[in-house]
Amino acid sequence: MDCLFCKIIAGEIPSNKLYEDELCYAFYDIAPMAPVHFLVVPKQHFASAAEVNGENAAVIGHIYAVIAKLTKELGISSFRVVNNCGPDAGQTVFHIHFHVLAGKTLGGFA
Ligand code: AMP
Ligand code: ZN
Repeated sequence: MDCLFCKIIAGEIPSNKLYEDELCYAFYDIAPMAPVHFLVVPKQHFASAAEVNGENAAVIGHIYAVIAKLTKELGISSFRVVNNCGPDAGQTVFHIHFHVLAGKTLGGFA
């Protein structure tokens, strides 16, 4: 499959890896929007939050548990999790991913 994040997970494209387990992969964003900006993606490919269903929903909870663990390890107590779904919401890579942003006061959004 011609998917950037699948290639990163497979090691075919280099990444600055933060964490990996059997279900997910976390790596630093190449164009950080905050002093700490990493992405967490399921190893199973699906495009976006619009494709979450009974078959794949469990990995979303797992990803939030990983985010809680990683932010604790990094000493981060305040952070924002962002999941863009669809081009009009700013999604540019169509393999579901969760941005974790921290390290500065994060402004409002809309
Ligand atoms: P989104 O716009 O929500 O789809 O987020 C995609 C994110 O992937 C952006 O923040 C990009 O900076 C990031 N990104 C694109 N290519 C890479 C890469 N090779 N390594 C790490 N992050 C990347
Ligand atoms: Zn993919």
